[in-house]
Amino acid sequence: MEEVTDVKVPFTRSNAKKCICWQCTVQADSACVSKNAEKMGEVMSSNFFEPEIVPGLYCSSGVASCKDIETSRPCICYECPIFLDYNLAECQLIEHYCKNGKAK
Ligand code: SF4
Ligand code: SF4
Repeated sequence: MEEVTDVKVPFTRSNAKKCICWQCTVQADSACVSKNAEKMGEVMSSNFFEPEIVPGLYCSSGVASCKDIETSRPCICYECPIFLDYNLAECQLIEHYCKNGKAK
C-alpha cells in the first residue's frame, strides 16, 4: 500500500539549494531571516538544516518561523525550479507558502 503523506515537497538539502526564496522581497528586510541565514551558512554542509532555521523551502516546511517578513509583497515561487519539478501549479496553494503553509 502506498504511504500516505501530506508532504508534497521533501525537506531535503538538494531541494533547499534550488529554492529561490532568498531572492524574494518578502524576506528582504527581515532581521530574523538574516540571522537564520547567517547561522545556517552553506545549505549542503550546515549543521542547522531544520525548518526553524532554513529561510526557504516553505512549500515543504510550511509557515515561516520568522514573523517579521512582508507577506503583502509578491511571491516568486512560480519562477523556482522546485515549483516545476513538483508540479506545484496543480496544488491548491500556489504561492506565499511562507504565509499560507506547505504545498499539498
Ligand atoms: S516553490 Fe517557493 S518555497 Fe518552494 S522551494 Fe521554490 S521558492 Fe522556495
Ligand atoms: S514562499 Fe514565496 S513569498 Fe514566501 S519567501 Fe518564498 S518566494 Fe517569497
